[in-house]
Amino acid sequence: MVIALVSADTLGSASASTSSFASIPLSVPHLAGNEWKYVKECLDTGWISSVGAYVDRFERALADFVGARHAIAAVNGTAALHLALLLAGVKRDDCVVVPNLTFVASANAIAYLAAEPIFIDVTPDTWQMDLELLERYLDEQCHLHDGRLIRKADGRRIAAILPVHVLGNLCEMGRLLDLAERYGIPVVEDSTEALGSQYRGRSAGTLGMLGTFSFNGNKIISTGGGGMIVTQEDALAQRAKHLTTTAKAPGHGYFHDEIGYNYRLVNVLAAIGLAQIEQLPGFLDANLVREQHYRRELSGLGDLEFQSITPGVKSNHWLCTVKTRRAPEMITYLQARQIDCRPFWVPMNRLPMYSAFEYVNRADVAGKVYRDCVSIPSSSGLSHDEMVRVCHAVREFFGSKLR
Ligand SMILES: *Cc1c(COP(=O)(O)O)cnc(C)c1O
Repeated sequence: MVIALVSADTLGSASASTSSFASIPLSVPHLAGNEWKYVKECLDTGWISSVGAYVDRFERALADFVGARHAIAAVNGTAALHLALLLAGVKRDDCVVVPNLTFVASANAIAYLAAEPIFIDVTPDTWQMDLELLERYLDEQCHLHDGRLIRKADGRRIAAILPVHVLGNLCEMGRLLDLAERYGIPVVEDSTEALGSQYRGRSAGTLGMLGTFSFNGNKIISTGGGGMIVTQEDALAQRAKHLTTTAKAPGHGYFHDEIGYNYRLVNVLAAIGLAQIEQLPGFLDANLVREQHYRRELSGLGDLEFQSITPGVKSNHWLCTVKTRRAPEMITYLQARQIDCRPFWVPMNRLPMYSAFEYVNRADVAGKVYRDCVSIPSSSGLSHDEMVRVCHAVREFFGSKLR
């Protein structure tokens, strides 16, 4: 049984139905393990709120899964991003480098700190930040001054780089980390879509100073809403826990030693998270089978292209997204056949609140990827029959012979 936990607000849809000619949702949670058992235990014991064993257990399980020393739960992925940037030292009037093609939360997290985004265009095949452009920008438009990298135009400091592992793929992280090290800038990973992905054998989220995850309704594992910060550094982890829990000093009284946040994940949701992460290896296997099925059945249709995976990356294949000049037509066609699909995010430079900020690009690739991309059903619990139905409809749309 599939239960829609929330109405998703990123790329996924969380509408699920159980009728026989059901619509096929884009990406919904798959609750097939110990969810009921763990939640029932929370309810039976009364431990539903912000303290309880499941928060610790979920944090430990996630840290172990990705190979991080520490994981700190948060109320959602956006909150995790906000805090991770704060912990990396981003301050008012700083600049943070981020790809132009991302979910709005990445840019919002920068804005919450009164810092300014610098949007970098993406590559036409991997849809990740274009490192060629980034390197040229840092080399030519910025300069080192007293160990700080400064934007020549206005003297603002480049305080962090925030790569976004779009759809579970990563950019060439080795090159990005080298560049960041050369200029002494921390890397915070928006790995919210990349739980289970790897770059040269290391888990997404553990490559930079801090990594972030989301357990929104459409992500590979879900708690309805939730997030996590991961890091190798003890001091950062301690401070992350402190700041997510209103910066309350140890002891019984209400003494808070700085402005903290109420960003805790509650125990009852952590219970769902623990049950979900137990199933993550199975979800990753299912996603790989689905991705291979789609690529086998749909490659070569019209001008259809799949996302190129960066060499050295093992993707979690979170959400299958294809590129075609006929994207708007294709969306209408599939929607009419009860197959949910979605366009990509509107690039950040086109959103009213971000249009005035710097956008480093040559040919606005993000705009073209946005125009041409369609995400197709990719739930971890997608059945074989549903996959066949999706492929049948896409082949029919391109006027190809049906298999
Ligand atoms: C899902 C997502 C987030 C944040 O997620 P929430 O948990 O919904 O706050 C941030 N960035 C990207 C790229 C995402 O896909």
